[in-house]
Amino acid sequence: MSVPSRSPYVVVGAGIHGLSTAYHLARELAARGLGSDEDVLVLDKSTPGSGASGIACGVVRNNYFQPAMSELMQACVEVWESDPEAYAYNPVGYIALGAAVQEADLTATYERQERIGYRSELVLGEAEVDAHMKGLFPDWRAQGVTACLHERQGGFAFNMDSVRGLHGKCLAAGVTVLEGVEVTGFAESSDGAITGVETSEGTIEVGEQVVVAPGPWARDFWAMLGLPETIDIRTPSGDVVPDRPMWTYWNLQEGEITVDPVVFATADGGAPPVIHLDTDAPLHTDDGKLVTDELWGVYFKRDRHGVQGGASPLVVDGDVELDPYPSTTDVDPSFPDMWCAALSHSMSRFEGCRARYKTARSGGVGAFTADNFPVFDYLRPNLYAILDSNHGYKMIGVGREVASVLLGGHSRLLYPFRFERFETGDLHPVSSSPYPWS
Ligand SMILES: Cc1cc2nc3c(=O)[nH]c(=O)nc-3n(C[C@H](O)[C@H](O)[C@H](O)COP(=O)(O)OP(=O)(O)OC[C@H]3O[C@@H](n4cnc5c(N)ncnc54)[C@H](O)[C@@H]3O)c2cc1C
Repeated sequence: MSVPSRSPYVVVGAGIHGLSTAYHLARELAARGLGSDEDVLVLDKSTPGSGASGIACGVVRNNYFQPAMSELMQACVEVWESDPEAYAYNPVGYIALGAAVQEADLTATYERQERIGYRSELVLGEAEVDAHMKGLFPDWRAQGVTACLHERQGGFAFNMDSVRGLHGKCLAAGVTVLEGVEVTGFAESSDGAITGVETSEGTIEVGEQVVVAPGPWARDFWAMLGLPETIDIRTPSGDVVPDRPMWTYWNLQEGEITVDPVVFATADGGAPPVIHLDTDAPLHTDDGKLVTDELWGVYFKRDRHGVQGGASPLVVDGDVELDPYPSTTDVDPSFPDMWCAALSHSMSRFEGCRARYKTARSGGVGAFTADNFPVFDYLRPNLYAILDSNHGYKMIGVGREVASVLLGGHSRLLYPFRFERFETGDLHPVSSSPYPWS
């Protein structure tokens, strides 16, 4: 594979963020008459979608307790909705069901959605939630759920298909996407500006700017740029928590049951919304064994060949091995029992589904920042980083915002995710969710 000796814009990583950025940048350059077709180059050490974007469950939701996340997701849903076919987007909606401890968070999220015009409905009270769910799924049987946020927008997309859709849009917009080119470092001038991208195939001189969108490999790029492994964090109260690891890794546990997908349909035969259930009701397997009597949570959606979803992730202790991605993922061996018990706990149609659990590698490793929220920022005068803290398949609109920033614009939506927040204490509020990504 030969690489060009020079490119005005180099984007590293052909996942959802790298491709979305390249596509929107190429379009903007053309619209503003600022360049030629050949101005944007994407490099990937493997192939498009070989990172987290190609294995994501694909859930697209707005349900975030943090205002900045919620507003950014609204813009992202706008992009999904702009071309559902190319993005393999299924606008089936999304339902978050919570235990009493999450009622206040879901209510706050719903109220914000009302304000910003994101279509959703809030149902409170155990009997009311039960009736709402039974209206959709007559065999709904999860008890003790007291809050339900039903988002009428969002849903899910098919992971590799949407990457292919974006890849196709990039090519049509004149972007060059090179596979099998590994970035190994950067050449820089005395003011820290990046002058060249060093790759396994030689150095590419940078005319204007570089964007890195490395997904789980965030830590490697952080190190390449000489940034510290630990940082001090100023909390909103002014206290400083010293030496927090900038990157931690979690194994995301996911799985699938092989059933006729139409088994999972709404009462009127329609496509079901994505379901996310958090509850403190005791969870038992179909043969009566107690799985847990503490707060637990799962999510699931209809897939092409069955029902797919996941549960809370597990922290990776010690060093993480990322390559070959994603086969290094470690999933709790008891995950299939727990996840299938949870499906059956929710709807009687899933009783006995443990026997249909697909034994295959599933899930993947994700990189999380020191506060579990993305960093979208310039890390060098002309190097912009999209480090999404594993929230990001749904964030297809971040590339659109980044493209505008690269061309001198300001993004109100990206501003709350600047790296400086750790120093200034402008952190995002913390929710009561058991997940690191809510
Ligand atoms: C199991 C799982 C389920 C998930 N489910 C969801 C979900 O339902 N909804 C959601 O919103 N998010 C989900 N996520 C998170 C989401 O997948 C990621 O946040 C998102 O895909 C990251 O996109 P990206 O473009 O930054 O990175 P990636 O898709 O990982 O792409 C990074 C690319 O960079 C390339 N690369 C890395 N290092 C180099 C190098 N040195 N040189 C050249 N190329 C390099 C890689 O080959 C890769 O193709 C999930 C994540 C996992 C692991």
